[in-house]
Amino acid sequence: MSNGLKMWTLTLALSAGSAVALAETCELTITGNDQMQFDKSELVVGADCDKVKLTLEHVGQLPKAQMGHNWVLTKPADYQPVAMAAQGEGLDKDYIPDDDRIIAHTDLIGGGESTSVTFDVSDLSPGEEYTYFCSFPGHWVAMKGTLTVEQ
Ligand code: ZN
Repeated sequence: MSNGLKMWTLTLALSAGSAVALAETCELTITGNDQMQFDKSELVVGADCDKVKLTLEHVGQLPKAQMGHNWVLTKPADYQPVAMAAQGEGLDKDYIPDDDRIIAHTDLIGGGESTSVTFDVSDLSPGEEYTYFCSFPGHWVAMKGTLTVEQ
């Protein structure tokens, strides 16, 4: 009885301590397919998130040279110029230009693969809209959506 109580107290102390010490990492998942589509056009980050771990899953079967997908986050005004710049980058660069307008991005993946990126929510302004897209040539027009951080 007293051993059980001690264990319970210790567990409680540990979990309370870790909640204070660790930043809140929130997880988001999005998929891309062989039809050049993301499954979501909107992603919302909770107000209590300090970091976001975004996982991109390619649920198709085509190789990345043919139907590669990545997930790139920018401000809405930067989306088009960054997407245009990405066309000039090769497959070996994952179609990711060296551009500081990119807030976060994943690697480029092919069918059956998945990848993730973790970024700080402090880089984003609550209530503002951000644009995410796939920077593979020709995909950015169809494969895009809006990410917002709750206020
Ligand atoms: Zn793509």
